Order: sequence, then structure tokens, then C-alpha cells
Amino acid sequence: MIMQRHQVVVGGGFAGLNATKALAGADVDVTLVDRTNHHLFQPLLYQVATGILPDGLIAPALRSVIKDQANARALLAEVIDIDLDGRVVSALGPDGKPLRLPYDTLVVATGATHAYFGHDEWAEFAPGMKTLDDARHIRSQILSAFEMAELATNPDDRAAYLTFVVVGAGPTGVELVGQVAELAHIVLPRDYRLIDTHEAIILLVEAAPAVLGPFAPSLQRYTEQQLEKMGVQVLCNTAAVAMDEETITIKGPRGEDRIPARTKIWAAGVRASPMAKLLADATGADLDRAGRVSVRPDCTLPGHPEVFAIGDMAALNKLPGVAQPAIQEGQYVGKLIRARLTGGAERIGPFRYRNKGSMATIGRSKAVADSFGVRVTGLPAYLMWGFIHVLYLIGWGNRLGTLYAWLRSLTFSANRGYRVITQQNAQRELTRSAETANADVPAHQAADPAR
Ligand SMILES: Cc1cc2nc3c(=O)[nH]c(=O)nc-3n(C[C@H](O)[C@H](O)[C@H](O)COP(=O)(O)OP(=O)(O)OC[C@H]3O[C@@H](n4cnc5c(N)ncnc54)[C@H](O)[C@@H]3O)c2cc1C
Repeated sequence: MIMQRHQVVVGGGFAGLNATKALAGADVDVTLVDRTNHHLFQPLLYQVATGILPDGLIAPALRSVIKDQANARALLAEVIDIDLDGRVVSALGPDGKPLRLPYDTLVVATGATHAYFGHDEWAEFAPGMKTLDDARHIRSQILSAFEMAELATNPDDRAAYLTFVVVGAGPTGVELVGQVAELAHIVLPRDYRLIDTHEAIILLVEAAPAVLGPFAPSLQRYTEQQLEKMGVQVLCNTAAVAMDEETITIKGPRGEDRIPARTKIWAAGVRASPMAKLLADATGADLDRAGRVSVRPDCTLPGHPEVFAIGDMAALNKLPGVAQPAIQEGQYVGKLIRARLTGGAERIGPFRYRNKGSMATIGRSKAVADSFGVRVTGLPAYLMWGFIHVLYLIGWGNRLGTLYAWLRSLTFSANRGYRVITQQNAQRELTRSAETANADVPAHQAADPAR
């Protein structure tokens, strides 16, 4: 029997939270550290970015999620270092002051971040979507672009504001571009007086030959067709090669094209959190191409059976960086730690993944699902997707709130209830407008339809 009183879990995402919950009632103290105060349901971030859902529904406070788990506490702090020999996690609290968290067992589950394939400077022009702040920023950028188009006096500027480019056609890119198309073609047309939002040009740029890389070809074709019906131009075999504030240059079968586009969104790649490299350097474990640290079959690090790395930051059996491996690894690690407490760890064996399939939405009543060999498209897939996502949200209040918001966005008026842009959010766009689009016309004058 191993005595392991102090369990530190770093990261309150799918992996870390499930590890914490799997330790409920065990004779240990669990400290769950996260640099945000919430558990983020990333699969619905794109709905925050496009005004369907308010952010609180997909980001319950970690403290509240584990409030009934007497042996666990949540800490808001950013982990900056881990001393594997001394068994201490170093973190910074919200006030910037250092914290030391000694542990007997450590679970690191810090997820992943965007990857710009050697072009980190593009982050400024094409934000990625990983956090609530990212989703709010993208929402503000999309909505501000329509506002700026309404203000623009020059047709070229208006067209640039009404051009939206999503780079990367994985599930996130497809879901996001579908919602931008619905905004332009269904939700916003009646809200504007000077512009016709139907004129928006919406491009989905993908370097691979098809959208939704891991899905079956029949589902890829269906997705492409549906997106095109919704007014999205799908450009496969096409890569982003340059961008700045006002344009993006893409290179595809027809050569290079420089497109004026104010709104670019990056959904093309992810890279493991820097904690993966820190652990790899400390243990000699390998890193894979996505920067994930290779773990042993029981999710521990080589030479350190007391340290687990799980979820998007860990490489195990070539599992994809999606929610199910993270959830299942978290549950497995909790179970293994419990078994170690009673000396029964051998009974648990290595981690085994149960593949429940994959799904993605395209737009209202349109989705694809591939589960246990059954491929479904259209409304049935959309309903499956909705049911599963609501099921995995935390708390009945959030589930009901989400159902209500969906009902609202799917009704005849197609209302998007969460389209708030604040003065601060919009500031950057407005400043740009003063500098470029309406350089010779003060913004308040340009706003006047009579001029
Ligand atoms: C936009 C988007 C859409 C997605 N859609 C789907 C989908 O439809 N289906 C699907 O299966 N998967 C989807 N995924 C992937 C899925 O969300 C991830 O695979 C999953 O969240 C991984 O869980 P995790 O616990 O490893 O990491 P995360 O959920 O990312 O959690 C990591 C946590 O660690 C915290 N953290 C990071 N660094 C530190 C630090 N230094 N100190 C303290 N805390 C730290 C973060 O704040 C975060 O809370 C999507 C992802 C994104 C971004």
C-alpha cells in the first residue's frame, strides 16, 4: 500500500476535472489548480463566438462544480514550474505571488494551445479559439466587421469588412464557418439598413484535400455540399501563406491569391501546452509532432509513477486530441490512484480507450456523426449531436439554459441573443476604421445614412 495524501491536479478541463471527480470519497486531499476559475466546455465555444450561447452556460466555476466533494479544493493559480525530484508544483496566484504546492501524486492536464506552424505573428491577425477570452474576442471581431461594413463609405472597404476567412476545416473550422454563414444569411439581413449581409463572402480554407480530415469520405462530401449551399466557399488543397491586418494570401490549385479580408479566424492547428515540454525535459520522455509528452500505458511518466500526464497534452496510443480520450484518461487515473491506496493497482491494468465515435455540426439541422460504424447525416445527426452535448454539460441549469438558447436561435426569427460588443471590445476595430476605412470621414459622420 502506498500512502499518497496530497494529490495535486493541474488543469480543470475534461481530463483534470474527471480525475478530480474520480477521487471523490477517497482518503486523500485533492488540490485542483487552474489558471481560470472555470471548467470550459470547449466544443461549444464556437456558439459563444457567434452569439448563440452566453459564456456562463459553458463555463461553470470549478469551485461550484466540486463543492460537494469534501476532499477537493479548487485554486486559481497559474502553474509555472514542477520540481519532479522535490515533488513540488510552483504557481503564481492571481496577485502574482508565488505558491508552492507539495504533492505525493501529481496529475498534469494542461491541454493544448493554438499552433501557427512557424507563423506566430499571424496570431494577431487570425485569432484562434481555445479560451473564453478567445471566443469573446472572435465574437467581437465578427460583429464589429458587420458594424464597420455598415459605416464604410468606400465599396472596397465594405467588401473587405464583409469577407470572412476561416483557416482550417476540422470540426471547429466547419462549425464556426457554418455559424458565420448563418449570421450573414439568416440572422442579420433584417438588422442592417445600408448593407446587404447576404453579400458577405465566407471562405473556408483547408490545406488537406477534404474537410473534416478524420471523417469518412461520404461525410466529408456531405459537409462540403451543405456548406456550399449555406453560402460558404470551400477551398481545399489551399493553404494560408501570408496575412496582415487587411488581407490574407492563400495558395491553392489556381495559384496565389491576395484577398482583402478583415476577419480571419485560425482553426488550423493545435500544440500541446508548454507543460508537456517541461515534463519531457525533466524525465527524458519523447515529444510527438504536436508537442505532446509520451506517457507509459498507465498514463505515468517514465521513472515517475507518481506523475501522470493526461488529455490533450499527452501522447498515448496515437489517440486524437478530443474530449473522450481526455475524459476517459481522467477517470482511469482517478481509479488507478484509488486502487494504489488499497494496494490493488495491478488489477487495473493499462489505460484502454473506448471509441464512441465523432460528430460535427454544420448548421441548423445539419450535422454528421460516425458512431460504432453507423454514419448519420442531417437532422438525425444534428439531434444526436445536440443530445450528447447537452448531456455532457455540467449542471441542470446550464443544460436547460442551453436548450432555451438553442430553441431561440432555431425559431423562425433565428434570434441570436448574445451579440454584445462593448466599447472596449470594439475599440480596436473602431480605431482601425478611423485610420483606414474612413480616413477622410469622421466615424460619426460616416455612420449617418444621409451622407
Ligand atoms: C473550439 C474547440 C472545439 C472543440 N470541439 C470538440 C468537439 O466537438 N468534440 C470533441 O471531442 N473535442 C472537441 N474539442 C477538443 C476538446 O475540447 C479537448 O480535447 C479537451 O478539452 C481536452 O481536455 P484537456 O483536459 O486535456 O484540456 P483542456 O480542456 O484544454 O483543459 C486544460 C486546462 O488546463 C488549464 N491550464 C493550462 N495551463 C495551465 C497552467 N500553466 N496552470 C494552470 N492551469 C493551466 C486551462 O486553463 C484548462 O482549464 C474542441 C476543442 C476546441 C478548442
